[in-house]
Amino acid sequence: MIKRERYGKIVATLGPASATKDVIHALYEAGADVFRLNFSHGTHEDHRKTHALIREIEQDVGRPIGILLDLQGPKLRVATFAEGSIFLNSGQMFMFDQNPNPGDRVRVCLPHPEIFAAVKVGDTLLLDDGLLRMTVVENTGDVLHMTVDVGGKLSNRKGVNVPSAQLPLSALTAKDKEDLAFGLDLGVDWVALSFVQTAHDVEQVKSIVGDRAGVLAKLEKPQAIEHLESIIAVSDAIMVARGDLGVEMAPEDVPAVQKAIIRACLKAGKPVIVATQMLDSMVRSPTPTRAEASDVATAIYDGVDAVMLSAESASGQYPVGAVGMMDRIIKRVEKDPFWRQQLEANRYEPQPHTSDAITAAAGHIAANLEAAAVVTFTCSGSTTFSAARERPMCPILGLTPSINTARKLTLVWGVHALVRLCHPKDMDDMVAAACHEAVTHGFAHEKDRIVITAGMPFGTPGGTNLLRISRV
Ligand code: PGA
Ligand code: MN
Repeated sequence: MIKRERYGKIVATLGPASATKDVIHALYEAGADVFRLNFSHGTHEDHRKTHALIREIEQDVGRPIGILLDLQGPKLRVATFAEGSIFLNSGQMFMFDQNPNPGDRVRVCLPHPEIFAAVKVGDTLLLDDGLLRMTVVENTGDVLHMTVDVGGKLSNRKGVNVPSAQLPLSALTAKDKEDLAFGLDLGVDWVALSFVQTAHDVEQVKSIVGDRAGVLAKLEKPQAIEHLESIIAVSDAIMVARGDLGVEMAPEDVPAVQKAIIRACLKAGKPVIVATQMLDSMVRSPTPTRAEASDVATAIYDGVDAVMLSAESASGQYPVGAVGMMDRIIKRVEKDPFWRQQLEANRYEPQPHTSDAITAAAGHIAANLEAAAVVTFTCSGSTTFSAARERPMCPILGLTPSINTARKLTLVWGVHALVRLCHPKDMDDMVAAACHEAVTHGFAHEKDRIVITAGMPFGTPGGTNLLRISRV
């Protein structure tokens, strides 16, 4: 049984570079806490196989592992070209239409009528993550006449962004609905929703998912930032998806937006992941740039729950090395006394609720008594989520009878989730169980103190209302 020696978590995306049991197991050993299945790529059969491998590894290592299903969402793309790609010169004219024939240097199909309905003369279209840029000079309703401002190579199915328009797109496409049903059947722990624009997008998915998985909103559109607080309020977790966010936003705006999202999540007590390009050069190189190391560190200093790898672990040359590098950076930051000071400085006052008051007190007591662990008993996970919101000075044990809850908690700051099949019978039993688990799993030694929180009566999901201090 591996005990992670850190608070910040690692999400690793799986893909062709990490499709075998050996590699996934090595990623886990190197430090991945949650695996992301990216439904923008791969078939259902691929994902079914990967899912089964992760569950086998979970059995082998005897520790819950989180699985996050990432839905593609309404990603806009050009159709295909007869030659697979074309080269566009800056200054030339080009056309988008809705004719499904393969494209050439003059025109290509853009299979999204919403764009034709929404754009006006003078609007900008960005292609291939913003590498190419065009301006609308005429919109006939069926054909967009464009001038190419910044040219380059454009190949099949490259992404299209329309930063100026709020398109009437649901965050859940027909493909997403199928993928979601498939994933929920398979049993995933988190569902990530891409290109969220409003809280309504999240609510729509939550009504389908119910309590089968946590729902995570990916913030990757400027429109989402306008509705930041309402989106966070209805989501179970948030991802700062800097890849797409960065396409529609100037580079200098991304850091401030990233920090604003993190602060809002810490305040609301919702887990937050920073994602994309964190160790990008490790796609090709065994070591990252020092600027990338600093990017990972900054997120950890800011108190995020998790940092994420995309291409680095999915299609790069050093997937295991990239996870190991993140693991080392996180541990190094967490040794720095300034990291603690930062967390303290970023702490928000608890909300005036019983459960927040108790978990805040638990955090203070843990610091005061130099407790070895905060031990939480939880059904739905809520007691453990709120313990993590306090960013206590010691690890949090999440004891739960539900394997689903334990898996969901793998994403959360400082939490070590353990499945304990039966609920405590009474207070004495609870204290004995907390001490036993803390010692067995190496979190506490004889004479150490632990702080225990739970909701009574045991076994009914709901608020935390109980706090105990105990000596092992
Ligand atoms: P993606 O999302 O990898 O699914 O595009 C993350 C991002 O846009 O940063
Ligand atoms: Mn994205």
